[in-house]
Amino acid sequence: MLELNDVSKQYRIGEQTVTALDAVSLNIEAGKFVSIVGPSGAGKSTLLHMLGALDSPDSGSIKFQGNEIGNYDDKALSEFRRHQVGFVFQFFNLLPTMSAWENVAVPMLLDGKTLRSAKPKALELLTSVGLADRADHRPSELSGGQMQRVAIARALIMDPPLILADEPTGNLDSKTGAQLMDLLAEIAHGGDRSVVTVTHNLDAAATTDRVITMQDGRIAAADVARS
Ligand code: ADP
Ligand code: ADP
Repeated sequence: MLELNDVSKQYRIGEQTVTALDAVSLNIEAGKFVSIVGPSGAGKSTLLHMLGALDSPDSGSIKFQGNEIGNYDDKALSEFRRHQVGFVFQFFNLLPTMSAWENVAVPMLLDGKTLRSAKPKALELLTSVGLADRADHRPSELSGGQMQRVAIARALIMDPPLILADEPTGNLDSKTGAQLMDLLAEIAHGGDRSVVTVTHNLDAAATTDRVITMQDGRIAAADVARS
């Protein structure tokens, strides 16, 4: 699904240059739940941003379903981020004045659809994440785990083949976090979707199909792959 070859990224801060990614090569396959772990500053977030075309590399190649993302113009990039990728964040990023189902519908609104036309799909997705009875609740009336389920339903509404999650369990207790990881695994295994998550939680990472360990902008040699 995604193929990275020799992807490098540096940041310049004044006189200093930081190498966030150092010639990273990596394949992300469909139907897999992949975690990225490693110490703070190892380049995990930078790598996740590259996978979602939120940031572009200084050098190297990123191919999505065989197409070089580096050749996309702004319109194609925006299209890619809206239709091919669903994002999940540590702090949920829900809109506080909207109900759960309206939050799930937001990507369809951004795509020019009406709330009314988006509602059936939003409700269906809320049901699939176990929140059928919370559709009309606002985020402030939901628990952290429930808010993250709403965010996952929102990430799925455009039916993207790729879900990227940045510390999705970072703000949840360990039991709720484990349930969230189970849900993300189901999403990856239930179709031809890839789910890639950055996590500090090694126990959570150990439940995924593949653990990519980063250190100093590189993938550590021990890239554990399970079937
Ligand atoms: P991680 O997610 O593993 O903590 P990051 O990808 O956030 O690592 O960062 C990798 C390195 O790049 C770090 O040294 C960080 O300080 C630096 N970095 C990341 N983003 C920026 C930025 N926007 N500007 C400057 N330096 C950055
Ligand atoms: P536009 O089409 O308005 O230019 P973008 O291409 O900037 O929109 O963004 C498309 C999608 O990518 C957004 O709906 C948003 O979910 C996601 N996105 C954009 N920037 C970021 C970011 N910095 N972090 C996380 N997600 C982002």
